[in-house]
Amino acid sequence: MDRNKIFVIYGSDGLEEARRVLEASGAGALFKPGMKVGLKPNLVVAKPASSGATTSPRVVAGTVEFLKDCGVTDITIMEGSWAGDSTVRAWQTCGYRDLSQKYGVRLQDLKSDRTRSVVAAGLKLEICVSPLEVDRLINLPVLKGHCQTVMTCALKNLKGCLPDSEKRRFHSIGLHRPIAALNTVIRPDLILVDSLCGDLTFEEGGNPIEMNRLILGADPVRIDAFGASLLGIDPSKIEHLILAEQLGVGSSKILSDTVVELARGTNQPLAKPAALPRAARHLAQFVDAREACSICYAGLIHALYRLDEQGALRGVHEKIHVGQGFRGVQGRGIGTGECAAGFEACVRGCPPGAEDILKKVEEFFRSCNR
Ligand code: SF4
Repeated sequence: MDRNKIFVIYGSDGLEEARRVLEASGAGALFKPGMKVGLKPNLVVAKPASSGATTSPRVVAGTVEFLKDCGVTDITIMEGSWAGDSTVRAWQTCGYRDLSQKYGVRLQDLKSDRTRSVVAAGLKLEICVSPLEVDRLINLPVLKGHCQTVMTCALKNLKGCLPDSEKRRFHSIGLHRPIAALNTVIRPDLILVDSLCGDLTFEEGGNPIEMNRLILGADPVRIDAFGASLLGIDPSKIEHLILAEQLGVGSSKILSDTVVELARGTNQPLAKPAALPRAARHLAQFVDAREACSICYAGLIHALYRLDEQGALRGVHEKIHVGQGFRGVQGRGIGTGECAAGFEACVRGCPPGAEDILKKVEEFFRSCNR
């Protein structure tokens, strides 16, 4: 598979979309019968995927079905929840016990894995050995906000491959550098990002925002740079991403032909925004939504959240128009998405990225206040 490409597919189920994007990307060439494959989801806490914290078992099920079609039968789901929770409890709560039984795949709690000392980018790290002993490793992170590292996706998800003592030590030595260093040692072959539902602000969930999208690639730096832009975050502000790029883990470059959208325009998510979590409800006062797809609505909420952090929403009385209900409507003010292209200002795209929304909306609000 081309490391320079990123594949995006829209949908809310997870299973079919995972299969389809893996098939369409040419990832099948990576797998052969008899291979030992590890799957590393994000089960940071024992909360279901609908909380915005964990990888949907439907996405993992789609990946397992794809691997079985490739003739791979030796599949292990490996994870170590954060130091404050039990992975065994997460298997149960997050639906991985049922998944394991249905497909005959192993569950391995990395908290009780053997460990190895390695030196990476000048740092001595203690890491779990199982992710190193498979023929292929697939990283299945959730794209979400994070209170310390701004966002978490492919690079940070590998922290689950550490024993608890090392997870704690990572915090004491600044998180960013050890995360980047860890990614020079554990090198997943594929990354399939669960961006169906991620938390707005915290890795432990509680403020879920539906985005109804999966993202596939092979370069974790590029995947995280793209993911950041979807959350309205400038990738150059994410320290572990920049450090990983400097260490040769990957490239943050997103060119005009990097992103391949599958079934664009034919597989849009539900034409209604999800109910907003408490942390984002006040942002809804700046939105006029009519039949908005979740993905368009979520991009706008992420952009508004960033503007709110900067204090840029103070004194704003305008609303941003979004949704299919604005197709063909001409008006003053600002719209986001192709459906709202009839407004005097518009962020084009179907769906537009949060970073683009952020720039245009910020500019518009500033011009209103002049
Ligand atoms: S531009 Fe319209 S159709 Fe496209 S994602 Fe947004 S609301 Fe849906």
